[in-house]
Amino acid sequence: MTPAESAEFDTLVLGAGIAGLQTALDLADQGFKVAVVERDPSIGGKMIRLSKVFPTLDCASCITTPKMAAAAHHDNITLFTLCELDKLVRDEGGLVATINQKPRYVDIDLCTGCRECEYACPTFVPDHEQGGFTSRKAIYVPFSNAVPQKAVMDPENCWICGKEGGQCFKVCPTGAINYFDKPSQFTIRARTAVLATGYELIPDYTEKAFGPAGRQPNLITSLQMERLLAPHGPYMRVLRPSDGKEPDSIAFIQCAGSRDLTLGVPYCSRVCCMYSIKQAMLLSGALPMADITIYYMDIRAFGKNYEQFYQNAKAMGVEFVKAKPTVAGAGENGGVVVRYEDQEGGGGGRDREYDLVVQALAIVPAWNPTGICDVGVAEDGFIQSIHPKFAPTLTKMEGVFTAGVAIGPKDIVDTIIEAGAAAMEVSNYLTETAKPATVDA
Ligand SMILES: Cc1cc2nc3c(=O)[nH]c(=O)nc-3n(C[C@H](O)[C@H](O)[C@H](O)COP(=O)(O)OP(=O)(O)OC[C@H]3O[C@@H](n4cnc5c(N)ncnc54)[C@H](O)[C@@H]3O)c2cc1C
Repeated sequence: MTPAESAEFDTLVLGAGIAGLQTALDLADQGFKVAVVERDPSIGGKMIRLSKVFPTLDCASCITTPKMAAAAHHDNITLFTLCELDKLVRDEGGLVATINQKPRYVDIDLCTGCRECEYACPTFVPDHEQGGFTSRKAIYVPFSNAVPQKAVMDPENCWICGKEGGQCFKVCPTGAINYFDKPSQFTIRARTAVLATGYELIPDYTEKAFGPAGRQPNLITSLQMERLLAPHGPYMRVLRPSDGKEPDSIAFIQCAGSRDLTLGVPYCSRVCCMYSIKQAMLLSGALPMADITIYYMDIRAFGKNYEQFYQNAKAMGVEFVKAKPTVAGAGENGGVVVRYEDQEGGGGGRDREYDLVVQALAIVPAWNPTGICDVGVAEDGFIQSIHPKFAPTLTKMEGVFTAGVAIGPKDIVDTIIEAGAAAMEVSNYLTETAKPATVDA
């Protein structure tokens, strides 16, 4: 886990979401040495932060945690957390990656994950792991099944709360706290690399689309709803953020940014219809009396058993309204007023107030390789695949492959398939390039 000054591997995997983890495990099981570089303090990506996953409604953390643990304990995998790629170039020996290591302010080898520092810390900060709905401390283990289970300090909010060092320093049983930790840089040499940097939700959409009317605590994002529905969520039940009321009515707004040329996202984000249907079904289980409405442009239930999933939601009483609504402002009781054109009813504009409104924000790339490595970016901003049909994981840089949402939006099933394909391409490349050169007789 500790970055060596320079280390050599068969493959460097950038990003430890489900795509990166699956690629790393597939390659490590074949005997290849893999370095996994992740910018967050924990591996797991978005999937570990989800509630349950369509179409099977498996508990996301129950099926992701074993993969995270397998990667952490695999003899052929080395994890580098809090690390970002600064440069990836090719020389005569293969690929050379320069990695920027962010300070953890906690010695990762000494920390036992006992959380004494976290309990002692007096500073509360909004916890983004929980959608910003609850607080964490300025020194903290990112979440209960984080890998590695090690504390990390957030220097922006730590004010070193004692005369001779903070409370965390005093209570740490192993002396792991290091206020003087600094950013550093190290090099990884690898013969191949797989870029699996995934996605973010489009930033600033609400402000651009709705202006001041959109500044409301009960207008939340789909990832925040995942946290409200998660077993270890912020409130352990579904409550609306402004006042802790159990919502009686919930609306979902689809295509919030996606398929919208004005925001530069012309494509479909592919998973929003399905995860909103999933969230609606989970909500109707948690809140059987609540009215749940999904406002949609078209329902895209494209995968195996997905259409049935959609039909099940309808049968459970979820209301589907074909409209692209806008948010008109705050309602009388802290709710959010949604305004839409009643295309399938009597026509004309209609206002409806909901206790809670969830936006299915567009999926955009989490990382832009420009200036860092020569893989190229497609028109949509995702990493360019040079053979989208027959070899979708191939990039234009020799020995560099890609997988998962880094190439474009997709669900977990397709991400896993693509991760396996990337591992196969890497394995073939490593085997081919390791062959002794043949000499013509
Ligand atoms: C609200 C919501 C609900 C969803 N629900 C479902 C569902 O129920 N079922 C389903 O099939 N799909 C669902 N999805 C889709 C699912 O999240 C994705 O298919 C899956 O998480 C993609 O995994 P990934 O590894 O490609 O990307 P990510 O999970 O985004 O992982 C990428 C990783 O790379 C890291 N990274 C990024 N840039 C760098 C960098 N420069 N250096 C180092 N590391 C970096 C990130 O920190 C992250 O850990 C949902 C999506 C959303 C938005």
